[in-house]
Amino acid sequence: MKALLGVVAMAALAVNLVTSCSSSPTGRQTVKLFPSTELAALGAASFNDLKARQQLSDNSADIRYLQCVSQALIGALPEPYRSASWDVQLFASDEVNAFALPGEKIGVYSGLLEVAENQHQLAAVIGHEIGHVIAEHANERMTAQVGAGLALQLGGAIAYSEMDDNSAALAMMALGLGVQIGGVLPFSRIHESESDQLGVDYMVAAGFDPGAAADLWRNMAALGKASGPQWLSTHPASSTRIKALENYAAQLQPLYQQGRTQGKQPDCKRS
Ligand SMILES: [Zn+2]
Repeated sequence: MKALLGVVAMAALAVNLVTSCSSSPTGRQTVKLFPSTELAALGAASFNDLKARQQLSDNSADIRYLQCVSQALIGALPEPYRSASWDVQLFASDEVNAFALPGEKIGVYSGLLEVAENQHQLAAVIGHEIGHVIAEHANERMTAQVGAGLALQLGGAIAYSEMDDNSAALAMMALGLGVQIGGVLPFSRIHESESDQLGVDYMVAAGFDPGAAADLWRNMAALGKASGPQWLSTHPASSTRIKALENYAAQLQPLYQQGRTQGKQPDCKRS
């Protein structure tokens, strides 16, 4: 019974936390249980570990190109993100992949530079990854996993014990929480489309052509048929996704053109 009370106390904690939810940059209601500073520290440690274990590119032209695009995007971000200390690294690998970690860490594999045909397409990748970081998707994903674990635990408690009515009600609320935020797959799709949208926003703010995002995904899809790049395992280049990117980019074209006349014209070249 003592263990059961412990579980119920955890449920109460989760229920308290769920009432203090927040909004993502696109206005979506989110539940994040972990302090951002803790996740940033975790992200920094993981990034250091990766940098120690995987070879970084020594191609200075490619590094300059990646930093040029990244700095243009970061320089156009809203505060406090513009002033944050972003760390964007180029890993020497044929993998067509990129990733983001909490604490403003972004890794790009040099293979990706072969698929992103110009600065605008590369900006689509970096902008997308920046979107994951700013929307704190890692925090939400971890919260969902904790919620699902808690729901399972409580499911067992209900099946094997005689709870009083109040405890059972509390447990059911927590189970409802688990059902609501559990399930990694549909959640990932939400994160992916949110990052797509944020990425295009950041591209336009920096003066990159938003139409290049759909071009990049078409390149990915074409390549995927032949060799199946790693990026596609977490970023399916579905026709739905490409269509959504095209529609959103079309909406932002006037803003992009306006920015260009105001001098937002990044000029990053891979040479
Ligand atoms: Zn993504």
